This record gives sequence, structure tokens and C-alpha cells, in this order.
Amino acid sequence: MGHQKAVGEPRYIKLNPRDNVAIVVNDFGLPAGARFPCGLELTAFVPQGHKTALVDIAEGAPILRYGEIIGYALTPIGAGEWVDEARIRMPDAPDLDSLEIATAIPAPQPPLEGYTFEGFRNADGSVGTKNILAISTSVQCVKGALEFAIKRIRSELLPKYPNVDDVAALTHAYGCGVAITAPDAIVPIRTLQNLALNPNFGGEVMVVSLGCEKLAPERLVPAGVDDAIVRMQDETLEGFGEIVARIMTMADARLAQLNRRKRETCPASDLVIGLQCGGSDAFSGVTANPAVGFAADLLVRAGATVMFSEVTEVRDAINLLTRRAANEHVGRALIREMEWYDKYLACGGADRSANTTPGNKKGGLANIVEKSLGSIAKSGSSPIAGVLAPGEKARQKGLLFAATPASDFICGTLQLASGITLQVFTTGRGTPYGLAAAPVIKVATRTELARRWKDLIDFDAGAVATGEKTIQETGWDLFRFILDVASGRTQPWSDRWGIHNDLTLFNPAPVT
Ligand code: CA
Repeated sequence: MGHQKAVGEPRYIKLNPRDNVAIVVNDFGLPAGARFPCGLELTAFVPQGHKTALVDIAEGAPILRYGEIIGYALTPIGAGEWVDEARIRMPDAPDLDSLEIATAIPAPQPPLEGYTFEGFRNADGSVGTKNILAISTSVQCVKGALEFAIKRIRSELLPKYPNVDDVAALTHAYGCGVAITAPDAIVPIRTLQNLALNPNFGGEVMVVSLGCEKLAPERLVPAGVDDAIVRMQDETLEGFGEIVARIMTMADARLAQLNRRKRETCPASDLVIGLQCGGSDAFSGVTANPAVGFAADLLVRAGATVMFSEVTEVRDAINLLTRRAANEHVGRALIREMEWYDKYLACGGADRSANTTPGNKKGGLANIVEKSLGSIAKSGSSPIAGVLAPGEKARQKGLLFAATPASDFICGTLQLASGITLQVFTTGRGTPYGLAAAPVIKVATRTELARRWKDLIDFDAGAVATGEKTIQETGWDLFRFILDVASGRTQPWSDRWGIHNDLTLFNPAPVT
């Protein structure tokens, strides 16, 4: 930034009439002397996405963005100066004991009817967007052996079953060397149990286990399912050849079942969509996240399940969310998840300010307060109907808060366990992120990124910043694109290239 010539007439975005800062829109930023249509002149270079003061701000005075306080001026700041992170003192997080609950429940919006997608309906009523054989593992020890078997399954078995998209190994670092009875061990264990039940896997569970691990493989098999475990230490199996053959025989039977699944027209209410962001910048909360929020409202109006997550990115805006809770119970559950995470971070000697990355700051996000206000825009304006603890399975429609860390891979893994069949991922800095188990639609906050990464980014929300498109138009386009991708008509780039991140468990319990 700063080395390339600024593009076009100087433009900034002020989000709320109360704001005393605005962000520079122009690609590559604007030099000192640039004059905005309102008459404000920059007195210093301001990079794209970074803030300039709209008025003189006194030392100690609040700095307002989104109409909320994102911090306090550490020194006097003149109008037209660059308000960079070093000039802002971060406010304290909202006190969890004095939050308003369900005091501003949004009125329900009119239902949206007639929207459908082509999905794979399962026996339990859930609907997948993919048809994948997922093979669970009870311990990391078996990973290499399973991957060897999967190579052979792909080349020797999969061609016989044209309706099956792929075979995936649900591998992880858990299972042994862990405090399996510690109270928080429920998080990774329930995540593995629920992952295997993701609607994209069609209910065909099988587990590859070692035999001596702490996580008994039976715990990963739903009640009533027989003959679903291959134990490598099984004394009737002679050598690696027989072990691989046993895995392949079990996989073959399941592939035959999965091959009977075919796409059929399903109402949009059968969708379970996860939302998250990664590599955020100051445009995240201006373009991509509000457009995703509008699409989330459309999905909720169509009767779908939509979940947003990332505790450390909602913690500083929790006062805005508890007001939107559908009832007292939901509000209390939100606070419970925040309290749990505050304690978890404190145990490690950190707090929520550990969330922001160097890339966030380079992108113009001064601190976690500013990042959170932009992040929660993804949740749209529906009432919050429910809360899920990490890895819990969603059992209701509407907008849910699924408590997860903000880490992209951990959030993705936990949302898959909660049952998402597609994820929408907003990014300002750019990431090649993808999931093998569900399609991921990557939404760019800026057109410059969408152009540069035209073969990695699926959807450009940048036209909102330049005023060429409204948030509503962009949200509708995204809603239709989600139906398209869920139907398998369009493949997101991560699936076209086959680039997928590892499943990554959240294990807050001790390792031994
Ligand atoms: Ca994230």
C-alpha cells in the first residue's frame, strides 16, 4: 500500500450519523492533500480501509464507528489525520452482569416462500448438499493406515458408485494421550460424534480404530448401528493387507447405500448454513458482512437454519446481541458461553484482545471492538432463536449462535458437527480456506481482492463500497448463489481445486 497511485475520486464511508471517523475506500489509499467531496482534506497518507478523523477529536474523547465507541483518543487527533491503532485506547469488554436481555427482539419479517434447492434427503429428514462417505477415526494412530485405504477406495471402489462425490477421512489429533474424563473433554468427543452425523454423509457411519485408545470407538457409533468398527489390533486380522481389506469391505457396503441417494427438490427451509469470517479488514463490516447478514435474514425468512459463531468476535458486541435474544433463556445461554470463554482465555493468561492479527491491523481494524462490530453484521437482523455450545447439534430453525473459537479451521469443524451443509466465509485479506465435507462460498469484502484472486474467491461484495450495488441487491444475489451451490449446479473454487483445510478439534481439556 502507498506505492501505487490512488484510483478515482477520493471517497470515504461513514456508517452511522454519530461517527467521528470514516474509512478510505480508494484502492491503495489516498495521499495527504486528497480532498473529499464534503471538503475534508487529508493531512496525511491514509491506506485503503483505514480511518480518518472527520472532525477534531480531543485527547481522551470517544472514537465512534458503527455509532458505537471503538476506543478513546490517546492524543489529540485533527480532522483529516490517519487514526491508526496506535492512537486508540481500547475500551473494556461489556460487563456480563448488566446486560439487557430480549429488550429489542426484532419483529419477525414476512416469510419467503417458493425458494428451493436440489439436495440429498436423508432417512432422518435432514438434507445434504453433498454425498460423501465419511470414515471416522477414534485416534490419530490410525490416520496413515486409513489414508492408505482411502487411496485404494478412491481408485478401486468409487468409480462403481457414480452418485457418490467422495470419500473423506475424519482424522484428528484426539483419542489418546488426553484426559478423557475431564469435564471439558465432552467438547472434542461430542464434536466427533456429531461430525459423523453431518447430513452430507447420509447417515452411513463407520469407524477405524486402533484398539487400545482411550476414546472407545463405540462412542462414535450411533445406537442401533451394528458392525461399524474396524479395529486394527483385532487378532483375527493378519497383517496390514487384511486390515486394509476389512476397511474396504466395510466402505464398499456403505458406498452402495450412499449411491442410492439422488438430488431432489427440497424447500430452502432444509438448508443449514454456517457463517464465519477470516482475514478480516475494515471493509468486512461495511460490504461482505452486511450483505451476508441480509442473505441470512432471507434464509431465516425462508425457514432455514443459519448459525454464526466466533466467541471472541462477538464478545465486545454482546450487549447488542443479548437484546436481540428471542427470550430470556436464549439471552442467558449467550452470556453462559461468553463467561465460559472469558474463563478459558484467562486460564491461558490471555483475553479477547489476543484475537486480532497483524493482517487485521494492516487492513485497518484497530482492535477487537472494531472487528466485533463488523463481525456481528453477518448475523443480520433476525431474533436470535437459540444457542449451541461448541460441537452441539442444531435441532431448530432460525438464527442460532454456535459458540466456537474464531480460528477458521476450528470454527469450520465445530459448525460441521453442529450440522451445517454449506458455509459462507467472508474475507478481506484473502485466504484459500475450504472444507472437504461441505461447500464453502468465499465472499470478498473488496473488488480488488476478488479480481486478483478471481480463481479463489467465489463472490464479490466490493461493489457495496463503491456504491454500485446496495447491500440488499448484493444480499439477494448471494442468497440465490447459495441455492445454486447447495444444488451442486456451481462448485466453489476450493472444491474445483480440491484445496481443503484439516478438521481441527477444539480440546479445552488437558492433554496427558
Ligand atoms: Ca474465523
